[in-house]
Amino acid sequence: VARRTGETYARWTPAFDERSSEQARLGAQIRHGLDTGQFQVVYQPIVRLPECRVVAVEALVRWRHPQRGLISPALFIPVAERNGLIVELGAWILETACERLARWTAELGPLAPDRVSVNVSARQLARSGFAASVAAVLARTGLAPHQLTVEVTETAVFEGGPAVAALHGLRALGVRIALDDFGTGHSSLGLLQSVPVDVLKIDKSFVDRVTEAGRHAVIAEAMMQVTSGLGLDAVAEGVETAEQAEVLHRLGYRLLQGYHFGRPAEEPDFTVRAVHA
Ligand code: C2E
Ligand code: CA
Ligand code: CA
Ligand code: CA
Repeated sequence: VARRTGETYARWTPAFDERSSEQARLGAQIRHGLDTGQFQVVYQPIVRLPECRVVAVEALVRWRHPQRGLISPALFIPVAERNGLIVELGAWILETACERLARWTAELGPLAPDRVSVNVSARQLARSGFAASVAAVLARTGLAPHQLTVEVTETAVFEGGPAVAALHGLRALGVRIALDDFGTGHSSLGLLQSVPVDVLKIDKSFVDRVTEAGRHAVIAEAMMQVTSGLGLDAVAEGVETAEQAEVLHRLGYRLLQGYHFGRPAEEPDFTVRAVHA
């Protein structure tokens, strides 16, 4: 049972995801869940130091299955990618998140976050017309392109081809592009030469051990040097303690995300929190 978001994901038996009949059943249930409104988008704050203002939120999908309970996206997103439903699910997530930011902007004014970050899977990105569909969502919701960040993983863009072409299309629109889970792939630095990127999201696995003496802080510092040298932003993810935030701040990180600053929620608290100076 994974503890996340202050809620507990339902228990999953290993046999479930291994059996292909179960996969097919889960796929059909995703279809049904989409049709009956079982999916929900929650938002996790991304804060800027030193004032800890919530400058952005990351949209994260949730599946509230009526029988199985809360199911982790780490389990159902791969299934939706395999059966193609990620295209429809992903389009719904994108539209929902953009609508939500537009509403916050209208209701909260300067207290609203400036940007929303949306995870986009490889299959969504590679589909022809992806950038055009993003442009249509921006037009419908009235968001400015720079208010949207698309988060992609290294593996999604590693192969090049249509996914990279889509990123150039997004870049042309003025949408920001974040490389998610940075540092965990096989060609993190190499990718930066060929792929348009604005933000590097430093994976939690580096943040977890950044307070230990030794190599972890050195790597985190080197990633910060690459980031600033290339004129990019860095977001450190999975920050759980004040101590981690402090070390990251000292290494030059200004954008932090993690349970220490706020868990994903339907209506996150946007008030400036002096959790950390
Ligand atoms: P991710 O994009 O790397 O998202 C960060 C994950 O770390 C989220 O898990 C978030 O709740 C969790 N997290 C944030 N701060 C902390 C922390 O301080 N400690 C710990 N232990 N965890 C933290 P979540 O929401 O379960 O999502 C898991 C993965 O599922 C995401 O990883 C992403 O790859 C995928 N995913 C989630 N929502 C979407 C979506 O809307 N579309 C797509 N394509 N994938 C999604
Ligand atoms: Ca992400
Ligand atoms: Ca990530
Ligand atoms: Ca991750």
